[in-house]
Amino acid sequence: MAKAYNPFEVAQEHVDKATKALGLDEATSELLRNPQREMWVTLPVRMDDGKVKIFKGFRVQYNTARGPAKGGIRWYPTETIDTVRALACWMTWKTSVVDIPLGGGKGGIICNPKELSDGEKERLARAYIRAIAPILGITKDVPAPDVYTNGQIMAWMMDEFETIMQEKHPGVITGKPLAIGGSEGRGDATARGGIYVLREAAKAYNIDLKNQPFAVQGFGNAGQFAATLGESILGMKLVAASDSKGGVYNPEGIDAQTLVNYKLANGSLKGFPGAKEITNEELLALPVTVLIPAAMENTINEKTAATVQCKISLELANGPTTPEGDKILDSKGVIVLPDYLANAGGVTVSYFEQCQNAQNFYWSLEEVQQRLDQKMTKAFKAVYDMSQEKKTNLRDAAYLVAVKRVADAAKLRGWC
Ligand code: GLU
Repeated sequence: MAKAYNPFEVAQEHVDKATKALGLDEATSELLRNPQREMWVTLPVRMDDGKVKIFKGFRVQYNTARGPAKGGIRWYPTETIDTVRALACWMTWKTSVVDIPLGGGKGGIICNPKELSDGEKERLARAYIRAIAPILGITKDVPAPDVYTNGQIMAWMMDEFETIMQEKHPGVITGKPLAIGGSEGRGDATARGGIYVLREAAKAYNIDLKNQPFAVQGFGNAGQFAATLGESILGMKLVAASDSKGGVYNPEGIDAQTLVNYKLANGSLKGFPGAKEITNEELLALPVTVLIPAAMENTINEKTAATVQCKISLELANGPTTPEGDKILDSKGVIVLPDYLANAGGVTVSYFEQCQNAQNFYWSLEEVQQRLDQKMTKAFKAVYDMSQEKKTNLRDAAYLVAVKRVADAAKLRGWC
């Protein structure tokens, strides 16, 4: 029987490969394959029916050698400590590869937010912050949104922290609404950063993206903006998209904004007129130039990778491709733009948000987008150059760049 998928084992496998290739000593390698700190919390929350329900949550601060821990909070029914560890580990390489002065962290609560009322969500958000407040703060650890959390939840969380501290601390959480210290451009930042990376990759590999078909798997925040920005910035043609309930396909093209409006109005893509219904698996196998996995971990694996036909995979999800999937894509010559490079736009604008909060001075949308473009372009170049120098794929190259920077910081601090 195939071994059960454990994202943290996958994350550690990648770290081990990188620390070995970099020739790091045993202590440094051991440090980088483990989280520095974990907090497990039990959260009693009064539900609307008057009963108390107990929720479980985690916060993992994976590595803080380069700065305070940074990373989102995911609310997910099948969350486990190992998924949060893996995501916190990937955040460490993400902040490093785009060279922002932050470490890596992640939080998770085991829950299904689709079944919670707004009042229940607010009480859960506040309970979580009360529980982890001792390890939070702008100099310690700064959360943000992730799967199934949003600006409203960040607003409640920031308010709870400020209430505990009896001081304003807008920079303690990023991804906040604009009215309470959020940044212009944070909303589409993950997708926009990915589209900039794709643009640079197309230049580096001499691929003309104009009018080329692309498909988006996962139609949440990142997927929706990737669809519209893929069209508007790169002139590509959206032919398919899917969410957890299934997908739609039209080889002639689908207007991205119309599809986004349909999803927002109907909650799913089902029944979208003028396109054929397809499954998520069928979407992965479409003959497109660019495939954008923008949903969850373990999407392109030993089973599905064999069917993939794209030239470029732009990983907007965290951990969408397993090591077995990678091997298959490699053998087919697919250019994989690895997750923590491709989706680092979100945390990069989170960092800009923190900078603005600290200055108490806010930037224009143009300024945010221009700075994001510079960061993503520079990060792609560093990874691409490394891949050329070491003759590796882009994922291995990204690990060499990112792990080395964290190892150097840990060494300078005298940690190892
Ligand atoms: N949750 C996002 C990510 O995985 C953003 C993290 C952040 O802004 O801190 O990159």
